[in-house]
Amino acid sequence: MRFVVVIAISCVASVHCDMDEMALLQSKTNSYLIKEEGDCKSGKCTPGRKRPDVTAAPTTAAPTTADTRGSINAPDFPQGWPFMQQCLHPESSGGLFDFSLPLCESNGATDFPQNARIGIVGGGPAGVSIAKLLHDRGFHNLTIFEKSGYVGGKSKRWVDEKNQAHELGTCYLSGKYECITAWAEQVNLNQAYLDVPRYASSEQSTIRNMTPPNYGLASEYYADFAYRMYQINPEEYAVAAQRAAQAYAEHWVHSMGGVKHIFPMEASLDMTVLNVTFEQWLLERNLQALMPLFFVSMAGQGYGAPSDMPALYGLMWNHPSLVSARAPDGQTHLRGHRMLKEGFQELWSRLVSTTSADVKLNTEVTRISRSQQGVNIHYGNDESEFFDWLIMAAPMPQALSLLSDSTPEEKNLFGGFNYHELTATVFEEKSLGVLPADFELFTWMDRAGEQRDYYRASLLDDGNVTRTMYDKDGDDGALTIRHTSNIKGFENEVFAVLSVSDFRSTNADLTAAIVADTVKYGIETTELHQERWEYMPHYNLEEIIDERKPWRIWDLQGQRRTWWLGSYVSFESVADVLDYNLQLVNARLCTGSG
Ligand SMILES: Cc1cc2nc3c(=O)[nH]c(=O)nc-3n(C[C@H](O)[C@H](O)[C@H](O)COP(=O)(O)OP(=O)(O)OC[C@H]3O[C@@H](n4cnc5c(N)ncnc54)[C@H](O)[C@@H]3O)c2cc1C
Repeated sequence: MRFVVVIAISCVASVHCDMDEMALLQSKTNSYLIKEEGDCKSGKCTPGRKRPDVTAAPTTAAPTTADTRGSINAPDFPQGWPFMQQCLHPESSGGLFDFSLPLCESNGATDFPQNARIGIVGGGPAGVSIAKLLHDRGFHNLTIFEKSGYVGGKSKRWVDEKNQAHELGTCYLSGKYECITAWAEQVNLNQAYLDVPRYASSEQSTIRNMTPPNYGLASEYYADFAYRMYQINPEEYAVAAQRAAQAYAEHWVHSMGGVKHIFPMEASLDMTVLNVTFEQWLLERNLQALMPLFFVSMAGQGYGAPSDMPALYGLMWNHPSLVSARAPDGQTHLRGHRMLKEGFQELWSRLVSTTSADVKLNTEVTRISRSQQGVNIHYGNDESEFFDWLIMAAPMPQALSLLSDSTPEEKNLFGGFNYHELTATVFEEKSLGVLPADFELFTWMDRAGEQRDYYRASLLDDGNVTRTMYDKDGDDGALTIRHTSNIKGFENEVFAVLSVSDFRSTNADLTAAIVADTVKYGIETTELHQERWEYMPHYNLEEIIDERKPWRIWDLQGQRRTWWLGSYVSFESVADVLDYNLQLVNARLCTGSG
């Protein structure tokens, strides 16, 4: 392991981190620079001062996009990029497309043989991806129980009157999604890059007026934020962020103990290094130039603010491949952000159809009992089926109540999780107000930094789940508009707004809060659909470091004929869910006698 890490560090040091938005900012900064108060050149800008005169910049709306396309000569991942070889080179040993099983070593045995009957509870990304991994490796006796009428879970589409499918959940992929991309290509899905800059609203901005109805580029907000919070000279911000991104990869390897997977194995970790929030971890390493990016990549997507979230989650989500990703065509894109044109639900649906899995839709599992002989899964109207192995791919803590024989350890690990509620509301646009017709993302940046509502979902002894709200701020306003109509080539203008919400708010209150934000930009809308999600199951810092819960779950894998998987054991993204599953398959399955 030590050898691998040394190689990795020498490789990452030469990585030319792309940071498209930063490069864009660098080329634009001069026209927006603060011209008064403080000596920015000597790095002594004072934060929190009054808004500078921005007459050099347009005062309303529309930052120019002319210089944002094709101007950055961005090479693809360099040869030897050390991270996630099992996805970058999926045919390599242990890779996504390496279907051979290792020989069982003398002291180890496979959890189950290839002819085992395997019952999978939950047909979301976790359930479908484990079925696909197992099928490809010769395990063909698979049954998926899915309580809804489709596979995909939080990868869900909503189809409007014109038969246009909008994303209610999983929407984007970026760097670190190489395995997902490989699968998407295998089932002939089309990808499209987000190719206009991301726009931003901020009432705190000082460099450029981004207070409604004005707005700016996300990159301008990043420089503004870094200046206000960390006194980084805006003129030097792009370079500072780029340097920090390179250093980040090295620090990531040291803290996460390796380069192979996203979820780290406990043996390779120094827990004291992770015993901080993600923000503290960054500040300790002088990586504050990345904080604006991570505020948006985390809080802007409902993953919590870096100042609240344990370092482990920040590091898992902001994998170096995500931070440094670029588009293969060298165009200016949002760090390789792209969509599957047909949507993620279609990915899971096509993938599962390439397996032999018996998919039972509209089939809610109601009870599960395990014994030394096997596993009985009860579903529907008192039907049941017998299996050799159980895979729990349904969200906790609810799914724990299905087990009639859960152990104290299982209760302790799966009985309670923190969650954010993430709401997606689909609107028809009557007018886009001041926003340009081709915009693809618009974020209320101040809210991304401050939105920290979360709740604890806990399983009670009577089998019910109770929810307790924490850090409520009374603000259910809009976080981001996802304007995917252009990417998908739709005729009519429909967009979705994401908000982190208090689960006790009414649907009408949520919509009203969003509308209040959008009308400030002159946007007129009609609501079409709303979906509220239990999102981002996570532990607090104490549960991670002192109680070692993520790794006690890893140690539990294979006991009592059970595997546990999904976002509740890894992180709330399909890339993380698949990474964990692949690691599990590689670690727990082998062939021949041990
Ligand atoms: C608005 C939104 C945007 C997102 N955007 C992205 C993104 O851009 N990129 C990204 O990578 N990720 C994104 N995600 C996160 C991603 O969708 C999740 O991480 C992923 O869906 C988790 O997969 P899972 O299988 O663990 O859980 P789920 O998707 O929750 O699937 C669990 C499944 O179990 C089923 N189930 C539950 N109980 C039972 C039962 N008793 N019997 C049978 N079936 C049961 C459920 O019906 C469900 O289908 C987004 C999520 C949301 C909500």
